[in-house]
Amino acid sequence: TYPLASRLDSVKPSPSMGAKLRVDQLRAAGRTIIDFTIGEPDFPTPSHIVEAGVSALTSGQTRYTASAGIPALRRAIAEKLERENGLTYGPEQLVVGCGAKNIIYSALAATVGDGDDVIVPAPYWVSYPDMVALHGGTPVIVQCDESAGFKLSADALDQAITPRTRWLILNSPNNPTGAIYSPEELKALADVLLRHPHVWLMTDEIYEHFSYGDVRHVSIAAVEPKLKDRLLIVNGVSKAYAMTGWRIGYGAGPVPLIKAITLLLTQSVSCATTVSQVAAVTALQGPQDCVAEAKALFQARRDRMVELLDKIPGIRCPRPDGAFYAFVSVAGLIGARTTSGKTLADDLDVIMFFLDEAGVAAIDGSSYGAPGYVRMSFATSIEQIEAGCSALAQAISSLV
Ligand code: PLP
Repeated sequence: TYPLASRLDSVKPSPSMGAKLRVDQLRAAGRTIIDFTIGEPDFPTPSHIVEAGVSALTSGQTRYTASAGIPALRRAIAEKLERENGLTYGPEQLVVGCGAKNIIYSALAATVGDGDDVIVPAPYWVSYPDMVALHGGTPVIVQCDESAGFKLSADALDQAITPRTRWLILNSPNNPTGAIYSPEELKALADVLLRHPHVWLMTDEIYEHFSYGDVRHVSIAAVEPKLKDRLLIVNGVSKAYAMTGWRIGYGAGPVPLIKAITLLLTQSVSCATTVSQVAAVTALQGPQDCVAEAKALFQARRDRMVELLDKIPGIRCPRPDGAFYAFVSVAGLIGARTTSGKTLADDLDVIMFFLDEAGVAAIDGSSYGAPGYVRMSFATSIEQIEAGCSALAQAISSLV
């Protein structure tokens, strides 16, 4: 056996990376696969942002920066928080990392140790529980049912809190369900947290711009300013500006926490990539039409996917309010038999059946802490959505 650290025992490989590998292998073997596993916008970074990155390179901005990020980017983030969220943060309350993921990881590394609990509402983004466990903490999973819109209630939060609770991690708009908490729901959760001053709140708002219809994202930081001294806002440019590969995210929070995160960045990545930081300034300060266009595109795709999926007998597709995922109930397929005689025992069997019989790749809900569901991304073209849903309908009709 190779001498790996025991802390790796609690870490699973990312299911979306696993799904991508499977899709790549099948495609390499000559099969046509429709990919509904995609966790990022399927279009390129807007050209004015790319040009800012290119000109950063050619003008020689190729060296290390301050670990917390270049002043221009921290200023641009402060302005964004003021403009879009009605929040006032100074540069010393902001830190830039290699993606929102790097900020979440560093914040947990800085604050969570043996004996600490972190409340993670399920369905959750897969990385939260593993990152908590990696740092010696215990993820306390609280199930949030579809009947409650997949949202954490104030009562459930109250019951989950113990003296060991260090953080609540809230993600709205949510990956994988698309759920968005209303200001009233956020206020109810904030009221519980106000009664438990030892619990900190991490709010992951990376999908904030993707909300559809009349539903709007509001930051819990704006709903309850009294939480500010124990609240970390996590956000970034990956999803809103189609910049996933540039790796720029940020955290906004109280100075001691921001200092601790920055300290860890100095000893891990040193700083976020310099040219990407410069490009992110342009993303945040430049014209915002690209964000509105992306949102309109995703809304049209959501509508089409929900309409088509919901017509298929045996599956049910609640309409997501945000992000770019449908979280589809496949409970009605469990127990069915395929033409080759295999019984679908769980959502993992269902995604393998979708892949084998329909050529459609999706991710099992179990990976997100929600067995009986499947996550299907609509960050792909209407043509792919139509082809995929039609292939699924046909494959499902063959089940006995
Ligand atoms: N938070 C959530 C809920 C996500 O779904 C993702 C990416 O899939 C991230 C954070 C990570 O974003 P970034 O690319 O900024 O690291």
